[in-house]
Amino acid sequence: MADYDLAIIGGGLNGVSVARDAAGRGLRVILLEQGDLGGAASCATPRLIHGDLAALERRAFWRVREAMAERDTWRRIAPHLVRPIRFVIPAHSDERPPWLLRLGLLLYDRLAPQGGLPASATIDVTHHPIGNALKRPFGTAFEYSDGLVDDSRLVVANAVDAAERGAAIHTGARCVRADRLETWRLVVIDRGHRRVITARSLANASGAWAGSVAETVLRMPPPRAVVTKMSQIIVRRLFETDNVYVFQNHDRRLIFASPYQRDFTLIGTVAKMFRGDPAAVSMDADEITYLCDAANRYFRERVDPSDVIRSVSGANMVTGPAGKRDGAMAFDARRGRAPLLTIFGGDVTTSRLRAERAVSRLTPFYPMSPRWTADAALPGGDFASAQFETEVERGRERWKFLTEHQALRLVSAYGSRLDVVLGDARDRADLGPAFGPELTGAEVRYLMIHEWARFPDDILWRRSKLGLTMGPADREALAAFMATAA
Ligand SMILES: Cc1cc2nc3c(=O)[nH]c(=O)nc-3n(C[C@H](O)[C@H](O)[C@H](O)COP(=O)(O)OP(=O)(O)OC[C@H]3O[C@@H](n4cnc5c(N)ncnc54)[C@H](O)[C@@H]3O)c2cc1C
Repeated sequence: MADYDLAIIGGGLNGVSVARDAAGRGLRVILLEQGDLGGAASCATPRLIHGDLAALERRAFWRVREAMAERDTWRRIAPHLVRPIRFVIPAHSDERPPWLLRLGLLLYDRLAPQGGLPASATIDVTHHPIGNALKRPFGTAFEYSDGLVDDSRLVVANAVDAAERGAAIHTGARCVRADRLETWRLVVIDRGHRRVITARSLANASGAWAGSVAETVLRMPPPRAVVTKMSQIIVRRLFETDNVYVFQNHDRRLIFASPYQRDFTLIGTVAKMFRGDPAAVSMDADEITYLCDAANRYFRERVDPSDVIRSVSGANMVTGPAGKRDGAMAFDARRGRAPLLTIFGGDVTTSRLRAERAVSRLTPFYPMSPRWTADAALPGGDFASAQFETEVERGRERWKFLTEHQALRLVSAYGSRLDVVLGDARDRADLGPAFGPELTGAEVRYLMIHEWARFPDDILWRRSKLGLTMGPADREALAAFMATAA
């Protein structure tokens, strides 16, 4: 008998979503990630949970409707990680006419499920705080509802749920060879040790590596797709209001400027074809200039390339041209040959649905329970979205030493699992050493024990974004603490 029913190569959003779905349906699952969970494209997304206005413009109405239904699903199952927010498009005299924008948003409202987020509206930004950050009195802007997600934490939450439902999650484990017989026989270099495992089916969810994994690890033709990279920039906070600005660029692309942590703004995205090692993907100078120029058409405070605090890039396979992000899922099962699922690309919003469809392809092969992921909260998400503020208040009442900002950050990251992170601490000293004003030994320990964090970067850039504010001395102390704790 094979060791597992399903082995998954890749711990990005696609891989962990498949792992969660399959483990919850009763399959014996192992997930192999060569680096850290969400360490590649999945922590470099624009963090949008949306119906996608660009898809609306392409008249992909079914797609918008499906994504909007998923948006509501995320708010239900991950209210700590996915927060509703108002998006604002200033009407620009050189771009789409205001009547067209208004009409598009009315259609967007119509495609949304009933009883969800507030409908779109027209606002006069000459007398509105939203106008304060803008370069000139744009006059009219249009407001609509969508969501923002913490992409890296969404990956980890899926992995935690998968593990709690029985999946084996291995980080630092590279699959170097997979031979296909009646079952799959995989060779894995797992933290330096060579292991052989067998699985009845295999999912190639290795993102931008899907082609090279197909060719070298599986010795099969690569999927017909191209690799594109997407990039964004992080700059100081450019606006005080709690909304996402959507800027129409002169090339008709939509550029999003979102609040990022408390003190920063994320601006993106720019997409381009990519050749080379996906692990070494980075942003080019012309891409940074492109995003700065786009922001400077609208924002009053100028953004220069020298203001960029960090750039974020990720590569993935897509079936459409650069700028589109159509994902693909292929299933191959022949008599006497173990099934192979290939899944890559696609957006964050529809990742749960994509995984559900992918795992459903295996139903003829294994007895498994029905679809379930749309109705089960992700770890920490067992409260109503409207109760988010109450949850923050509850945190402040229980752990009185938390500032409002700290409680907000912790509830946004861990939801109701904050109980496990902070336990019965009565003051800050009970949480162990402090690494800067935010991170404590208790949180680091939690991340190492429950969320597979191994190195400082796993915490500073993925499970949190505290790398943006932490100084070198605290980083060194964190590295020493983690080495000892490991
Ligand atoms: C140009 C572009 C624009 C995008 N725009 C958006 C957007 O606007 N909104 C949105 O929601 N999403 C967007 N996305 C999509 C999103 O970023 C990803 O597609 C999504 O996160 C899914 O990622 P993944 O799991 O397929 O890949 P990844 O997150 O890259 O994960 C693949 C993992 O496989 C691992 N791996 C590779 N080889 C091996 C091996 N041999 N053994 C073990 N592990 C291995 C890698 O280390 C990596 O962690 C965009 C994508 C692209 C490319």
